Amino acid sequence: MNRPSFSPLVLHQEFNIGKIIGHRENKIMHDETQRVYDHVLKTDPDQKEFQQAVFTFLQSIDKIIDELPEVTYHKILERMTEPERVVMFRVPWIDDEGHVQINRGFRVEMSSAIGPYKGGLRFHPSVNLSIMKFLAFEQVFKNSLTGLPMGGGKGGSDFNPKGKSDAEVMRFCQSFMTELYRHIGADTDVPAGDIGVGGREIGYLFGQYKRITNQFTGVLTGKGMDFGGSNIRPEATGYGLVYLSQAILRGEGMDLEGKTCLVSGSGNVAQFTVEKLNALGAKVVTLSDSTGMIYDPNGITPEKLQYVKTLKNIKRGRIREYAEEYKGVEYIERNPETPNPVWDIKADYAFPCATQNEILKADAENLVKNGIKLVGEGANMPCSVEAEQVLMGNNVLLAPAKAANAGGVAVSGLEMAQNSQRMQWTRERVDQELQTIMGNIYRNISEAAEKYSTKNNFVDGANIAGFMKVARAMMAEGYV
Ligand code: NDP
Repeated sequence: MNRPSFSPLVLHQEFNIGKIIGHRENKIMHDETQRVYDHVLKTDPDQKEFQQAVFTFLQSIDKIIDELPEVTYHKILERMTEPERVVMFRVPWIDDEGHVQINRGFRVEMSSAIGPYKGGLRFHPSVNLSIMKFLAFEQVFKNSLTGLPMGGGKGGSDFNPKGKSDAEVMRFCQSFMTELYRHIGADTDVPAGDIGVGGREIGYLFGQYKRITNQFTGVLTGKGMDFGGSNIRPEATGYGLVYLSQAILRGEGMDLEGKTCLVSGSGNVAQFTVEKLNALGAKVVTLSDSTGMIYDPNGITPEKLQYVKTLKNIKRGRIREYAEEYKGVEYIERNPETPNPVWDIKADYAFPCATQNEILKADAENLVKNGIKLVGEGANMPCSVEAEQVLMGNNVLLAPAKAANAGGVAVSGLEMAQNSQRMQWTRERVDQELQTIMGNIYRNISEAAEKYSTKNNFVDGANIAGFMKVARAMMAEGYV
């Protein structure tokens, strides 16, 4: 093979390098992307979620790989799929009965090519290395799309905050940070929240970091407003999801006003997705949690949403209680053996905001049957590979998580900027910056889709646009 130079990475549209680095023949993937995927399957055979995230990404990169001999030569894809560092640790803590409990903690530092590692912490019993790695991998390209200088990472624990007292959650967070603190820092790795980690947990984690290091720095984002947090950070993921979805809809001559929407989950992302959809004149008729869903044909009004916020963030109750509170609301218990009932309701747009793989093939078929025009991914990787194929094969506009939920980390980036400045910006300013970032993401992913894939294939658009910046930085920084 010719040795490509270290010069800045550009897509050579006219340069058919396929003969040099391998060609497709009748294969689904190019030799190069297939080789990288096979390597992941071989080295981590049990990491299904990580494999899924890598597969979807490589399918997009497949479309440009012929034009990028440098990527092959410098083994950019192999390096991208291998975390720079993984930390796994024991988290001992004492419950309210005085018994010792042990959990497992993780931090996956996937890529620092374009900035300090950045990405949330998840506390959920399902957490394992595969889930941590898929989330960290997605985060790398999501952070790149924001245009801000942030690398990618993710962490968490199999600790289940559900049913724990505040004191237990505090002791767990303190023990978790007692190990994590040595791996993070305002210019090294800046965690935030995710499933099971909200304002309460970030407060305890920050307090312990400060106590151990004797430093008050912007080492975590999602902090409370009284100790270095940013306006609009709690709202940012949900608001950003709606801003990006609106931009996509407008590109196709559609809008949110007067439309019926399905939202799953009832946590941070779901709550502020509903808030912004309401503000823009849409009607949301569903919410869910891990035990069931509610269908409110009259719509989850701002007043009802306030009830949900109190129920979920303060009382830490179940979504079933909503159906007991309001008339005309149906509650359906979740049965993991059957399709998710949230996706079997007639509506215009759907916003999965709970967790990965919550839309499987049968759910996607239900969405198509019900005439859904857009799926905006608030959760990370909510659609299985087959579900994605069903949706896109039926011309449903798919706003992929990497782009659609990037608003959260974008405002985390703005929180870091404010911490560095020792300033706190107004709500209006942060919201304006968020809208600008989501608008830029829309332009970048739609241009990349149109140029290198198919118009409106935002999955390819997001993967390709996110990838190019990280790849260029990796080329410039040499083999590290
Ligand atoms: P929360 O913990 O605030 O809420 C999660 C919601 O999803 C809860 O309603 C929870 O129900 C439900 N849920 C969690 N796990 C499952 C499961 N296995 N099956 C069914 N329902 C489940 O988390 P967030 O709102 O912060 O996160 C939701 C999604 O958004 C995640 O995919 C996360 O990675 C993603 N995301 C979050 C960002 C943020 O800023 N917070 C940023 C970008 C993406 P229950 O209460 O019963 O557990």
